[in-house]
Parts: sequence; C-alpha cells; structure tokens
Amino acid sequence: MKKCKEQVMRGWHLGQCSRNPVRDGYCKQHHPDSVAAREKLQTDKFEQKQKRRHALYIHIKELEAKLEIAQTKIDAVSDIAVNCLSYYHAAYQSDRACKRISNEIKIAIKG
Ligand SMILES: [Zn+2]
Repeated sequence: MKKCKEQVMRGWHLGQCSRNPVRDGYCKQHHPDSVAAREKLQTDKFEQKQKRRHALYIHIKELEAKLEIAQTKIDAVSDIAVNCLSYYHAAYQSDRACKRISNEIKIAIKG
C-alpha cells in the first residue's frame, strides 16, 4: 500500500513517512495545508507573546514614570517639612519639639 510521500528523518537518514495518505498523497500531519496551519499557529503564538511583552514593557514604563512623580512629591514634602522644622527651631528655640517633629517626618516618609 502507498505511504505518505513526505520524507522524514529516521535516525540519521531520510526515509518515507510511514503513515497512510489521506489527501493528495500526504498523511494528515504532512499535508501542506496542515503544515501551513501549524506554522501559522506558531507565528500567531509568537506574535501574541510579542504583543504581551510589549504591553508589559509599556506598563512598566508607566509605573516607573508614576514612581518618579511620587519620588518628586516625597522630596518636595521632605523639603517643606525640613523648612517647617527650621522655622519651629527659630521660633521656639526648642530642640525637644524639633526632635519630635523630625521623628514624625521620618515615620511618615518610611510609613
Ligand atoms: Zn506523512
């Protein structure tokens, strides 16, 4: 009985596919339509993976931008707090009050 006309690797040499032909002299697996469909599936999967990676990259970039804005705001708040502290110190000449406020600022920033 005739076999599928595709040549396949058998160990170290090429040999004829052992499956029975179902269409145009090819088995189901080796018919050019099936081969093309498998290749298209692989290409689609690869493209989807690339799209997901790109979307993740964009998301990371957005988060980094937000993080930078947040850091800028924290720096600005810290500057204001330090300024307030120096005014307190000048106004009341109180080291105890300054230390307490300084600790509160540290806790707020780390918190
Ligand atoms: Zn075959």
